[in-house]
Amino acid sequence: MTLEVSTAQIEAVAEQVQVHKFGGSSLADAYCYRRVARIVTEYAGASDLVVVSAAGDTTNRILAIIDAKEEGDETDDFGMAEVLLKQLEKYQHGLITDLLSGDILTSVMEASKQDFSRWWNWLAGGEEIKNRPELLSYGELWSARLLAALLQQQGIRADYIDARSFLVADDAPEPLIRVEISREGLLNRIAPHAGTRFIVTGFICSDPNGRSLILGRNGSDYSATLVGSLIDSKQVTIWKDVAGVYSADPRKVERVVSLPILDWREAEELARLGSPVLHPRTFQPVNRERMVIAVRSSLKVENQQTRIGQYEDTEPTGKVLTALADVVLFRVDLRDAKLIEAFEELDLTPLISWNEIAQHQAYYAYHQNHQDYMTAWLEQVDSKNNASQLTGYAMLALVGNRIQETEQFGVFKQEVSEQALRRLALTPDNNAVVAILEQKLDNRLLNRIHSQLFNHRRSLGVLVVGRGNIGSAWLSLYRRLRERINEQMDVRIIGILNSTQMWLDYNGLDLTDWQDQFERLARPYEMSQLIPELPNAPYDELVMLDLTDAIAVAQLYPSFFANGLHIISANKRAGASNESQYSEIRTIQQEYQREWYYNTTVGAGLPLNYALNDLRNSGDTIRSISGIFSGTMSWLFENFNSEVNFSDLVRDAKQRGLTEPDPREDLSCQDIIRKLLILAREIGLRLDWKDIDVDSLLPEHLAEIPLDEFMQRLPEIDEGMQDLYADAQKTGKVPRLLASFAVQDDDTVRARVGIEYIPEGDMLANLIPGENIFVIYTDWYHEMPLVISGPGAGKEVTAGGVQSDLNQLLSRLAKAK
Ligand code: ASP
Ligand code: MG
Repeated sequence: MTLEVSTAQIEAVAEQVQVHKFGGSSLADAYCYRRVARIVTEYAGASDLVVVSAAGDTTNRILAIIDAKEEGDETDDFGMAEVLLKQLEKYQHGLITDLLSGDILTSVMEASKQDFSRWWNWLAGGEEIKNRPELLSYGELWSARLLAALLQQQGIRADYIDARSFLVADDAPEPLIRVEISREGLLNRIAPHAGTRFIVTGFICSDPNGRSLILGRNGSDYSATLVGSLIDSKQVTIWKDVAGVYSADPRKVERVVSLPILDWREAEELARLGSPVLHPRTFQPVNRERMVIAVRSSLKVENQQTRIGQYEDTEPTGKVLTALADVVLFRVDLRDAKLIEAFEELDLTPLISWNEIAQHQAYYAYHQNHQDYMTAWLEQVDSKNNASQLTGYAMLALVGNRIQETEQFGVFKQEVSEQALRRLALTPDNNAVVAILEQKLDNRLLNRIHSQLFNHRRSLGVLVVGRGNIGSAWLSLYRRLRERINEQMDVRIIGILNSTQMWLDYNGLDLTDWQDQFERLARPYEMSQLIPELPNAPYDELVMLDLTDAIAVAQLYPSFFANGLHIISANKRAGASNESQYSEIRTIQQEYQREWYYNTTVGAGLPLNYALNDLRNSGDTIRSISGIFSGTMSWLFENFNSEVNFSDLVRDAKQRGLTEPDPREDLSCQDIIRKLLILAREIGLRLDWKDIDVDSLLPEHLAEIPLDEFMQRLPEIDEGMQDLYADAQKTGKVPRLLASFAVQDDDTVRARVGIEYIPEGDMLANLIPGENIFVIYTDWYHEMPLVISGPGAGKEVTAGGVQSDLNQLLSRLAKAK
């Protein structure tokens, strides 16, 4: 080919023409196309080149059709391939009719129909389309043609170029570009047309005989820099769904920062370590002294962009935390010198490699994506089976030039050393520190490490389970205190759940009108399926508020802890579960180092746990606690006398929300036993249900019937209660329902719940209805007890107590680092 363009034209091209690239997801539907057209008119110069990928998931669709056809070849059933091809045709034609009209519509549609008739012919066994690369090429061809047509329709001078018409390469696993001939071809096509925007197909090129070749999956970034370097352009802009390169993957990590600049070596290292931002080959053709790659958001054009260029002299800092969930280790016998040499010379460099001399082993870590390739390669070079593959590993890496000199290096080392670290190493150029972990990665871990590295405010995601009285009261309290709560950490409510429905949003719920929003947005869910998902919520820490009374929730505490959540409970069921369950919960809690607060389970908002912990931490020993632990019982008995029916009091109390939903929980003393167990366990005693001596107020024949019926038959308890009252009065006393436990001299615990007769003048006989009282004897308080009393129930005080637990959790977590 002879050069038809003048030197002056070539210089003008190099000076003026820049390259832009849009990926498939930027062209997924008509709306996206219009946005891209707008960017091309407003942010690209009049002679710029625009490289495009296939629209949406077209490449994947094409691959699926090819697969289905191949299967059809074996089974003689092309049904699937037909269906998929019809869908693709419909998608492409839909784009065309949505975007174009008039003559332009007619001509593009005509061309497209011709293409598809070739496809149908191919499916039927015809030979018009020869090979897989040719089939794949259509994706890019269609998007380039359509975007050019759309621009033309908008009155802009535009045309499209099939890259196979100029980009020539020799076939190889990664096609080898013939630079000179490709440059001439491109210049000949564009130089004479200053003032025309050309849309160029990404991903594809051709061999010297005109056969289609592809540049590898996601190869359009590479196409863009290739085209840019052919014309010696100063800038290639890669337009993405995200604004530039961030300090971590913004889909997984919260509060990432976008990086204004990145040095070539950092960008390259990042791509090599599997960061989804740019394909590793993108950097190959670049003239690093001249070109800059700008990575920019097509959704938010105004956002900051990242400029990748020659910036190696800037102060070294850790820039990007990057992660790979699935890493394979290839373990090779060091004594097989030939095989080791083959590994060392392999083009595909490992993430890191190292030797363990004592065991005669070398390790090469690769991303799982490369496993098939490596396996096939090993089949050729490892005839003696001296290499084995180990899976179940993950990688975390921190990228930045001269990483060892940065402040973040130490932080990173510290953080990964707390994980199941298999190996930590610097990459040879000191552009990254890489950690291979023998464990799964989750987003919570990424978020934690990211915020340690980049010193962000730490975040806490709150899952609220239970939206009854307490849940509602706490949510309104939270709304009122939100600013103050957020001072220590960035706290967000990520979900509100009842037993069947959840309203979940990892970005944080907007709590205005939350009741209505819940009605509208909540969806059915399974708690057991939700929990393993939660570690992906992008927060440093997560807490579950159990504001239910549900055994089902309490049973899942081990699973919540094991998935990284802290727990705050108003629910007594876990703290008062039987000894074996309780110790399982505690074991798992400790193993996973989670916090568990449950101050409101006894005495609601009363600062009982603070007093007990404080005494114990200061060296005192608790000897006994007795009193009226139940606000319900307190209310019932303080209002009870010979003139009123006990059953009327129970009804009244239920209506006022003072009883458990089923008042039998109170009457059978279950609720009090639970509190007693929780208190005893809180001070380190071992106590189980069977160790407690209980006098229930609930006659056995009423225990099992449905709640409605029970409420009707409630008066059946009145006679017995009146007898009790009369009996107490004989000695000038009144009945009260007391709970107590005491550590005996032999260190066993005596615990009892039941009616006792109290002299009428005694403090216990003169509480305000609903008041709780805890009488505490200790080594120090042995002549006169420490007494804590006050309201022991009610949604406001309970919500306040939950908030107090949350405050405690926040200060604990904020201190943690
Ligand atoms: N369309 C091609 C692919 O999906 C190239 C690209 O998107 O960069 O792999
Ligand atoms: Mg793509």
